[in-house]
Amino acid sequence: MNPIATKVAVIGAGISGAVCASNLAKNGISVTIFESARGPGGRMSRRREIAEDGRELYFDHGAPYFSTTNSDVEEMIRVWEARGLVAEWKQNFGSFDFITKKFGNFEKEGLKKKYVGLPGMNSICRALCHEPGVESQFGVMVGSLEWLENKNLWSLKDKDGHDLGQFNGVVASDKSIFSRRFTQLTGKPPPLDLHLIPGLADIIKDVPVRPCFAVMLAFENPLSSIPLKGFSFENSEVLSWAFCESSKPGRSTSSERWILHSTEQFAESIIAQAGLQKPSNEALTDIAKELFQEFQRTGLDIPLPFFKKAHRWGGAFPVTSIAKNEKCIWDGQKILAICGDFCVSPNVEGAILSGFTAASTLSERKLVSGQKM
Ligand SMILES: Cc1cc2nc3c(=O)[nH]c(=O)nc-3n(C[C@H](O)[C@H](O)[C@H](O)COP(=O)(O)OP(=O)(O)OC[C@H]3O[C@@H](n4cnc5c(N)ncnc54)[C@H](O)[C@@H]3O)c2cc1C
Repeated sequence: MNPIATKVAVIGAGISGAVCASNLAKNGISVTIFESARGPGGRMSRRREIAEDGRELYFDHGAPYFSTTNSDVEEMIRVWEARGLVAEWKQNFGSFDFITKKFGNFEKEGLKKKYVGLPGMNSICRALCHEPGVESQFGVMVGSLEWLENKNLWSLKDKDGHDLGQFNGVVASDKSIFSRRFTQLTGKPPPLDLHLIPGLADIIKDVPVRPCFAVMLAFENPLSSIPLKGFSFENSEVLSWAFCESSKPGRSTSSERWILHSTEQFAESIIAQAGLQKPSNEALTDIAKELFQEFQRTGLDIPLPFFKKAHRWGGAFPVTSIAKNEKCIWDGQKILAICGDFCVSPNVEGAILSGFTAASTLSERKLVSGQKM
């Protein structure tokens, strides 16, 4: 018989980890979430910035919105809508062609329902991390996971070697917990030693990712020459998307705020020169300038913003889906689940489905007798 999972550690408070933790708690399992960032959200984060004149500005600088075609995810969205955590962003999107200088393709993006968190994209994760039965520890990076063979328990330590406790089960919701990229960035071995799960090591050892730069812009007045609140760019090597942040439901309209996303090609070329390490402020300033200049090259009437800042997402989108059918990776002997968008599809829907499946799989293992910690 497998040990029951009465106490589970979820590593990462992005949407996959938060959905997983919330569903584990609903199934009576005591959960602790460890998140290295100061707050929840991961790539659904919301950024607070202060302009030079002291104005407070908020930006969804990761995923700007999400959509779904999956009925389980739709059901969750209905519940979140009823709790006031999510609203539909009723704007039609399109594209802008740099060659013809025209907007088009209104149908392609127009039909999908687009959802945003209220008042920011991180609101869903925040709410799920504070549900009954879920304990959340922010600013804690899990540095190592040790399997205690004689006890059938996981022992977790933070990056400085401090004890974080022992757990019957672990959910790892970020690829950096086991990938080589962690070592490239930190020079240290990843928290999870793949030798502990030899049967799964080959599946999970490498998850390639696509990078992206996001530039946050704030203007005094609405950009009235732009007829759309979200559009992709055609025939630009630099810009891929633009979104009007302040047009989303529940956002402040005291300034006009836009987010620009770079192309993968642009982001790759910067990383090829500068390396994987966190870019300097000077480098980010130059990148913000370059992306904004490309925005102005549309020929649309775009004045200078009073706030402009770039953020790098080194691993914005996973390139592979490592558990498309199963939706998460599962080791039933050691009660270890690996979930995240990289298991299903590179978007919020995929992350939700993966976290939900990890929680269901783990909860089924809780069946047997009463091993308590
Ligand atoms: C610029 C951009 C645009 C996007 N656009 C869209 C879009 O339009 N629509 C859409 O659906 N999706 C979009 N996405 C993708 C979407 O944001 C992701 O698919 C989704 O948020 C992934 O959620 P996740 O839980 O799998 O991972 P993450 O959100 O990355 O969560 C993982 C968490 O684990 C934490 N963590 C990692 N290691 C440790 C550790 N050792 N200890 C503690 N914590 C740790 C991280 O800090 C992070 O918070 C976009 C993403 C980006 C970056």
